[in-house]
Amino acid sequence: MLRSALLAAAKSPACRSLVENAPPVRPIVDRFVAGGGLDDAVRAAKELSTDRLVSLDHLGEDTTDREQAGATVSAYQALLRALGEHGLAERAEVSVKLSAVGQALPVDGEKIALDNVRQICATAAAVGTMVTVDMEDHTTTDSTLSIVRDLRVDFPSTGAVLQAYLRRTESDCAELVGPGSRIRLCKGAYDEPESVAFRDKTEVDASYVRCLRTLMAGQGYPMVATHDPRLIAIAEHLAGKAGREHADFEFQMLYGIRPEAQELLAARGHRMRVYVPYGAEWYPYFMRRLGERPANIAFFLRSLLTK
Ligand code: FAD
Repeated sequence: MLRSALLAAAKSPACRSLVENAPPVRPIVDRFVAGGGLDDAVRAAKELSTDRLVSLDHLGEDTTDREQAGATVSAYQALLRALGEHGLAERAEVSVKLSAVGQALPVDGEKIALDNVRQICATAAAVGTMVTVDMEDHTTTDSTLSIVRDLRVDFPSTGAVLQAYLRRTESDCAELVGPGSRIRLCKGAYDEPESVAFRDKTEVDASYVRCLRTLMAGQGYPMVATHDPRLIAIAEHLAGKAGREHADFEFQMLYGIRPEAQELLAARGHRMRVYVPYGAEWYPYFMRRLGERPANIAFFLRSLLTK
């Protein structure tokens, strides 16, 4: 229930203004967000890429303003060029939310988002890196997967994200296990209705394992995005059973979450990618992270009360 309340607050302008203007909030946000600008993103990518891979997310989502969507494209292109100039393109890709590049626009949203993300993919290809398309709430799943399919015609390395909490995802996994298909499997971060999603943690975890089995046995490149130690152990086991070498799959975690586990997996020879968000639009991302772990909320509330 608390998680649902926080996810509802993530969409509320009043809560947004309250949280964004609370003086002690910045140090807590800094745990999850690399900083406000391009330089912060490049610095974080440089630091992390000594032993890990990186996926950078220019924060922003749900835009209903076409100019804003265009500005997001420019921000990604500037980021990608900077990655190229700093010699980071081999170790750093970008993650893009389609709702930040126009998918939510009332007229021609899907077409505008496709045109926009295509420009980002073209710049990524020019500097020698790739794009993964984030997955948002279930109303966008069909549109997002259709856009990924279109992108893969010209940019076959484009990654897709599947969310184990959705009842449809097992069958989506089976459809997307072709050669080279980069699939990030996560549990899912939105507040979804029972009709389309498992809401019980045990059911979500069981679905995650079923999806992992399919992805590991397939011909694609699974990206195991979870901080859950049990699922990480199962993924290692299933990869071994499928005869996959370290180069044939990767683990992914979020910036600031279980960094010691990230380092450990990298030290054991695994490909370990850190998802690094940066930018001014941190509020909805931050609220989703608070909702994932009660201890985060307690920490947040305590710091509000003690300042
Ligand atoms: P959980 O069961 O939530 O957590 C397992 C353990 O991890 C917890 O016990 C705790 O120790 C630690 N942990 C987890 N979350 C936190 C936190 N916020 N703060 C502190 N500790 C924590 N979701 C989407 O819907 N779409 C996406 O495109 C998407 N992309 C993602 C990309 C990456 C690289 C990752 C790692 C996650 C992504 N997510 C995405 C979020 C994901 O769906 C989950 O909401 C999130 O990862 C928490 O689930 P978990 O698998 O870590 O398991």
